[in-house]
Amino acid sequence: MDYNLAVIKGDGIGPDIVDQAIKVLDTIGTKYGHDFSYKEVLAGGAAIDATGEPLPQETIDVCKNSDSVILGAVGGWQWDHLPGEKRPEKALLGLRAELGLYANIRPAVLYKELKAACPIKDEIIGDKLDFVVVRELTGGIYFGKRGQGKGENGDYSYDTMMYSEMEVRRIAINAFDIAMKRGKKLCSVDKANVLENSRLWRKVVLEVAKDYPEVELSHLYVDNAAMQLVINPKQFDVIVTGNMFGDIISDEASMITGSIGMLPSASLGNSKLGMYEPIHGSAPDIAGQDKANPIATIISMAMMLRYSFDLEEEAKAIEVAVEKVIEEGFRTIDIMSEGCIQVGTIKMGELICERI
Ligand code: NAD
Repeated sequence: MDYNLAVIKGDGIGPDIVDQAIKVLDTIGTKYGHDFSYKEVLAGGAAIDATGEPLPQETIDVCKNSDSVILGAVGGWQWDHLPGEKRPEKALLGLRAELGLYANIRPAVLYKELKAACPIKDEIIGDKLDFVVVRELTGGIYFGKRGQGKGENGDYSYDTMMYSEMEVRRIAINAFDIAMKRGKKLCSVDKANVLENSRLWRKVVLEVAKDYPEVELSHLYVDNAAMQLVINPKQFDVIVTGNMFGDIISDEASMITGSIGMLPSASLGNSKLGMYEPIHGSAPDIAGQDKANPIATIISMAMMLRYSFDLEEEAKAIEVAVEKVIEEGFRTIDIMSEGCIQVGTIKMGELICERI
């Protein structure tokens, strides 16, 4: 099959890590008979320097006409003085909105060889941690009505948490579909003991559950979920939650797994077109020095093959190759520990390609 991919390398380590991800995709293409073609476009700081805008129209058009989008990371101190609307990070929100990407999928996987990086006790973690957080991305309190004013107690301000049935239904379907491809366990996180909006969330999730009798559904209040992630993270397979709760829970989940350089993410909408990127930023402190860990971006490619192109075997091939390289003791500097072999960004990419 032929796949047309839009590539946004971005800023800082973006080009370093995306180059390795492309190398891995090309290796998969050769092995399994697929043809990946790439159209590079600008977003973030690189786009500001070239065009004055963080998200040029050409980038939006190319992304919309692609089969999926690969993104490195955007941002850096050079652009920190710019006003909010003009900053590199604005490109991320713009892309999600333009491409209708309302579901953010973040797997949290802790490899047994990297257990030392996990801040939680060994007996709680066991051999391996492997769960996924599905976060609603384009609704909820971050997008609700907001305002401010002056009252008798001084200035006041408010933000409104709003979800429609449609918004909850589509993210719930997404999460149930993912649970079906994994351990068939889904935990919906809300605050239904307090929030009206969470009661609607729970009602709709229960309705959607009727179409997925094989999936074991549970509900947790968000405060309890935050606690359970620390005291018993192994209980989770797939977690689904709203925008703000997901923002917090997914960061907590990623910290449990140690290095930020290992964690991929996917943003999905109604079509097969998704945006695939590591969860970390542009790490300007190590940009262009062959130090960045490319694994998060490389595993994001596995997510793309699985979720956008239904290429499960190819996705697994990438994940198994990454596991092998880790098992064999190869480490980039961020995950380096005693007795292991330190390698740079390029070498790590090559090793993963060789194992594929
Ligand atoms: P960061 O994730 O870029 O870096 C935090 C720390 O982790 C740094 O010490 C960095 O060297 C290290 N690190 C990050 N990724 C790594 C990797 N792959 N391998 C090895 N080490 C890695 O976060 P930050 O420093 O807060 O932000 C830097 C810039 O990135 C800012 O401009 C920020 O706005 C932007 N940012 C962009 C995105 C995105 O594009 N999705 C996300 C977060 C932050």
